Parts: sequence; structure tokens; C-alpha cells
Amino acid sequence: MTSEAVADTAARNGGSRRIIVMMGAPGAGKGTQAERLAEALDLPHVSTGELFRAMRKSDTPLAEQVRGYMDSGALVPDDIVVAMVDDRLTWKDAKNGVILDGFPRTVAQARELDAMLARVGTAVSAVPYIEVPTELLLARLTGRRICTKDDQHVYHVVAMPPKKEGICDIDGAELYQRKDDSEETVQARLDQQLPPMFEVVDYYAGNDVLFAVPGDQSPEAVTEELLRVINSRTGA
Ligand SMILES: [Zn+2]
Repeated sequence: MTSEAVADTAARNGGSRRIIVMMGAPGAGKGTQAERLAEALDLPHVSTGELFRAMRKSDTPLAEQVRGYMDSGALVPDDIVVAMVDDRLTWKDAKNGVILDGFPRTVAQARELDAMLARVGTAVSAVPYIEVPTELLLARLTGRRICTKDDQHVYHVVAMPPKKEGICDIDGAELYQRKDDSEETVQARLDQQLPPMFEVVDYYAGNDVLFAVPGDQSPEAVTEELLRVINSRTGA
């Protein structure tokens, strides 16, 4: 056995591994918090996007299979996504655990993930849920304004307002709201994405690994609370 393989086996059998699953609606700041936790806990932040990008570069039969789905534009089935997470857990940087962001998206995926983790002798250790009231999500997700002269000039009515309402600070051009950011479009997106997310949240609540953190406070305060609870739950 090579030393690398020994390390992998030890990692897979280690009970002290932290498998953290981030939950939160679009606009809740889940990605930002996952990034901060990854740094503070020294764990890799594994977003679904990163998983797929890794498969683009990888040379395994699994990667080849995944590329087949991606190239044909077909949805990658749950068991394949779980196999990708399984593979990702064997990487050296994941020996102490991972922070999953964007997966699982459905209860079926959450069950598959649990089954896979059980096979390698571990389990989800904590599921932080960043809870943000829907009105606040809407305000955050509809607040973006873009310059009509240069689409690199981006503002947000709450988070980064221009000095003069509706006017670009840099060139004085008018700002506009993209159709993607309109209340109607955002609401439709939330209507589609929130129910399956709530089901996954309920699933983890039933497994006693879920904890909710209010997301309507400063990002720093959210991080602090997340770290406090994760450390007390995963015994570090
Ligand atoms: Zn401008």
C-alpha cells in the first residue's frame, strides 16, 4: 500500500471527520459563509460547481461518465452526483472533512448521501441552516441595479447604493434592473427552489444534525454563530 492509499483509508475510517452540509435559500449568504467556514475550520469548500469542474479535469471512468451527461445537456442522476462526492472525499485535503454547498438539493439525494457516508464509516456531522425571512431574500435578490452605459458598474439598492438614486456614480448614466432580478422572476425562482430545500431541512432536522442560525444579522455575526455551534457539536 502506498502512503497515499494508507492516508486515504485512514481518512475514510476516521470518525472525527467533519462532514458539514450548508443549507440556505438563494440570497441567504450560504456560499459566502461556506467560504468563511472553510477557512476557519481548514476544510475544503466543495460546491456543486467545483465538483463538476473537478470532473472536467479528472481522468477517471466516473469523470468520463459525468462528462457524458454534461456534454449531452442531460441532468446528472443523483447516484452519480453522490459518487462524485464520494470520490471528492478521498482527496487529501478532505481528510478532516468537507463543507458541502449546493448538495444535497432533494431528500432523495440526502438519503443517497447518508447511505454512501455510512458505507465509508462516517455520517453528516452538522447541517447549518442560514434562515432568512422570504421578504428579506426578495429585497436582497431584487436590489441589483446596473449601469446602462457599462454593465461592469453594478450597484445594490441596500448593500451598495449609488450616491444619487438611479444614477451611476462613475459616468452619470441611468441604472436599470435586469429582468432576472425583477420581483416576478425572483419570486418564481424562490417558489421553485424553496419547497425542496425545506424538505431537505426537515429531513436533517429529523436526523438531529440540523441547527438554524438567523441570517438577518451581519455576515460576521453569522460566521461567529456558525463556528460556535459547529465546534460545540463536532467536538473541536
Ligand atoms: Zn456607469
